[in-house]
Amino acid sequence: MNAATAATAAAAAAAMPLIRLRGVTKVYGSGSAAVAALRGIDLDIDEGEFVAIMGPSGSGKSTAMNILGCLDTPSAGAYLFRGVPVQRMDRDQRALLRRRHLGFVFQGFNLLPRTTAQENVELPLLYRGAPRAARHAAAREALAAVGLEGREHHTPAELSGGQQQRVAIARALVTNPTVLLADEPTGNLDTQRGREIMELLAGLNRERGITVLMVTHEPDMAAYARRVVRFRDGRIDSDRTQAPLDTPAAETR
Ligand code: ADP
Repeated sequence: MNAATAATAAAAAAAMPLIRLRGVTKVYGSGSAAVAALRGIDLDIDEGEFVAIMGPSGSGKSTAMNILGCLDTPSAGAYLFRGVPVQRMDRDQRALLRRRHLGFVFQGFNLLPRTTAQENVELPLLYRGAPRAARHAAAREALAAVGLEGREHHTPAELSGGQQQRVAIARALVTNPTVLLADEPTGNLDTQRGREIMELLAGLNRERGITVLMVTHEPDMAAYARRVVRFRDGRIDSDRTQAPLDTPAAETR
């Protein structure tokens, strides 16, 4: 690619949303057993957005999240990440996209038991081959960013549910992701702990510009997002922006 085409490609990518889905369908199984989980999704998400994905059980939310997270591929349609068609990437390139740009947070925390918070958070950096000292420093910083300074050497069993989810968020943050994909991150927590996690996610979105995509069933938690996309029967039923719930930090802006 010469300089002029490189500049044109860069300009085109800059004009594109961070994430673009066009006509995305997903069919599981075949023949009479086929289930259409997604029936044609068009969705644009800009860098820095905080989006809540809602909808009844079975409406296609997890399928969409798996596709966005490069854990699954669409049956048809296009997924563009910064203008680059993900479906044209090979397995390794998709894995690279996942490692470089995406962070995951799950309802069940998915921490390694009998492993300290520090070691859990270091894990993604270990896979990257980062040197020990760098891993150590980055994990400490990520744990401090989620309010867990001083808990580095606790194992999950020695932490509350809310604290375990903070460790999981620190593990997602340690690689500096562009996007945080959170699948019902407050689903296993009581309301107060859930709110604290939402304040944390809202703060990361506001202060670090991390794009947050979060599936939730709870309107109280979706209230923290600036945009709510509702799924129904494998389609997008509504897509609305809203004034996010004022968090203490947001009020001082
Ligand atoms: P949600 O996350 O909104 O509950 P899902 O994306 O999990 O919805 O599921 C959408 C539809 O696809 C449902 O009918 C579900 O049963 C079906 N489905 C999801 N995953 C699979 C799979 N691996 N095999 C077959 N059907 C599936």
